Amino acid sequence: MADQPRRIQLRRTKGFNLQRESLALNGLPAVKVDRSTQWGNVYRVGMYKNFTAADAVEAFRYRLKENIHLDARWIMEHIHELRKKNLACWCRLCQAHASGKPLGVVCPDCAPCHVDVYGDILLSAIGSDTSATPGTLSNTGLRLMANSVNGTVFVRCAGNSGSSR
Ligand SMILES: [Zn+2]
Ligand SMILES: [Zn+2]
Repeated sequence: MADQPRRIQLRRTKGFNLQRESLALNGLPAVKVDRSTQWGNVYRVGMYKNFTAADAVEAFRYRLKENIHLDARWIMEHIHELRKKNLACWCRLCQAHASGKPLGVVCPDCAPCHVDVYGDILLSAIGSDTSATPGTLSNTGLRLMANSVNGTVFVRCAGNSGSSR
């Protein structure tokens, strides 16, 4: 499993070279997926009242599942580009996963990150099927529907979306 793709953490350390670090970890190149890229999470901590990092990740999961926003569509159409790559974001990894958290691994000690959503999608559909759904709606999705996101009000009933996985 040495070449299992991982979520890795970007660093501001002087001399940090993402591709070099990534290749040294498991021989895979890295893709930066932070907010400076089209892969970034449009949802941020605190953008709504009591909106946590976990909420932001679940909201992102929901956005990809909805597949109605252009940015989400772009992601789902290009997600195959993330196959067999380490995915790099700034979100904190725990000590046990300091050298990367294998995609698909759930860890309560690592900070929530939208890379985990990418991991779920890539592992469930091997990233080849652009109609793939990134999982079922959580309670956060329910709460989100009370919010207006980028001018779009979520109207779908969560009860109708539970059968997709
Ligand atoms: Zn961890
Ligand atoms: Zn992140």
